[in-house]
Amino acid sequence: MSPPRPLAPNRVVPAEASAPTPDPADRPVPAENPDPGASPDLGLGPDSAVSRELPLAPVNRRAGARRPPRHLADLSLADRRAAVADLGEPPFRAVQLSRHFFGRFTDAPAEMSDLPLASRDALAKAMMPPLLSAEREMSCDGGTTRKTLWRAFDGALVESVLMRYPERVTMCVSSQAGCGMACPFCATGQAGLTRNLSAAEIVAQVVAGARLLAAGEVPGGPGRVSNVVFMGMGEPLANYGAVVAAVRRLTEPVPEGMGISQRSVTVSTVGLVPAIARLAAEDLSVTLAVSLHAPDDALRDTLVPVNRRWQVAEVLDAAWNYAAVTGRRVSIEYALIRDVNDQAWRADLLGSLLAGRLAHVNLIPLNPTPGSKWTASRPAAQREFVRRLEAHGVPVTVRDTRGREIDGACGQLAASVAGPGPARHDAS
Ligand code: SAH
Repeated sequence: MSPPRPLAPNRVVPAEASAPTPDPADRPVPAENPDPGASPDLGLGPDSAVSRELPLAPVNRRAGARRPPRHLADLSLADRRAAVADLGEPPFRAVQLSRHFFGRFTDAPAEMSDLPLASRDALAKAMMPPLLSAEREMSCDGGTTRKTLWRAFDGALVESVLMRYPERVTMCVSSQAGCGMACPFCATGQAGLTRNLSAAEIVAQVVAGARLLAAGEVPGGPGRVSNVVFMGMGEPLANYGAVVAAVRRLTEPVPEGMGISQRSVTVSTVGLVPAIARLAAEDLSVTLAVSLHAPDDALRDTLVPVNRRWQVAEVLDAAWNYAAVTGRRVSIEYALIRDVNDQAWRADLLGSLLAGRLAHVNLIPLNPTPGSKWTASRPAAQREFVRRLEAHGVPVTVRDTRGREIDGACGQLAASVAGPGPARHDAS
C-alpha cells in the first residue's frame, strides 16, 4: 500500500555550486534544542559550520523575534501540573485541560463545563493560547484531501494536509516555517528557514485535523487521525527537540497526549546522520523516511546539498542502524526527475545499495511547477526503475498524487500568500 504523497513542493530550480566534502572532525555535534525560538539544532543555523560550507538556504529570522506562546502541548503532564499550580489552581486541572485538548480537541473555555466558570478563561488563556489560525483552506478528492495554510502568532506561514483513505487518515505536518536544507527541486527549500515550530505548533496541526474528523466534517463520517507524517515544510531533524516532544505528545495516551500509535508516525529527513543516530536511541517506534533521491554522491550533492556533509554511504549506515535498533523498516524516498535521477543504471545502483536491507523505496513522481526545468519521469522510465529495484528484491511503491490540484504541495500555497521572498530562486 502506498503512503500518501508528501506535501511536495513544486518549484524546481537548477542545481548549481559544489562545496568540498568537509573534514569529519568538524562536523557539528547534535544538541538538544527544545527551544523553538533558537537556531535549529545540529549546527545548521546561519553561522554554523555547515552553513558556511554548504549553499543552504538563508535563515530569515528577524532580530528580536519572539517565541511562540507556551502551550500545554509543549509540556509533559507533570510540567502542566506545575504550571497550573503556579496559576494558583489545583494541579488536577492540568488533567482536565489535557483531556479537553487531546481527547476532545477543544481549547474553547465555553466547552469546559467541568472547570469552574471563574477560572476557565484564565486557565485556557495561560495553558492553551491560540497558536495557529487558518489563513486559507483548500480541498479536493471530494473533500477527503484538505490542505490548510496556517498563520502563526508572528505571521509565519506553515501548511498541513489531511488525507482520508478508506482505511486510514493521514495528517502531513510541518515542523519548521520554511526550511534551511535548500534542496533545489523543493519549493520550501528555496525560501529559506524562517524558524522552528514549537512542539505545540506541530501538535496543533494534528489536533485541528482530529477536530474536523471528530465533528464529521470530512466526508466518510466521524473519524480519527490514524497516521502522522512529518513531510510538510521543514527538516524535522533540524528541529529535533520540538519534533521529538511533538511525537511524544501525539503518541502518549490521553490525557498525556493524543494516543496515536508510534508505528503510525513517520519522520522524514534529508539525512542528518547524528540526529538519525539520536532518534534511534529515543525508544520510539516511529518510521524513519530518508529522502535519498540519488544513489551516488555526485548527483545527491546537487539534489540534497547537505549530502556534502553526510554522504550516501553514511546516511544509509545511519538508516540501517535505525532499522536494527528499532526493528522498523526504513522508507527510502526517491523523487523521480526526468533524465536527472531516473536512469536504469541508477536504479541498479540503488537496488544494490538496498538489497537485503530492512528498507523499501517510495518513488515520488516529481511534482513540477509551471516554468520548472525539471519534471516527472516518463512512464516507461518509471516502470523500468521499479522493475530494476524489484529485480534486486527491494520492495517499491509509487506514491499516489493526492492533492496535486490543490498544490498538495507545501510551499506553493505559502508562497502564493507571502509572495516570492528575496531568497526565492527563479526556475526559469
Ligand atoms: N525535509 C524532510 C521532509 C519534508 S519533504 C525531507 O526532506 O525528508 C517530504 C518529501 O517530499 C521529501 O522526500 C522531499 O524530498 C519530497 N519533495 C520535496 N519536493 C518535492 C517535489 N517537488 N516533488 C516530489 N517530491 C518532493
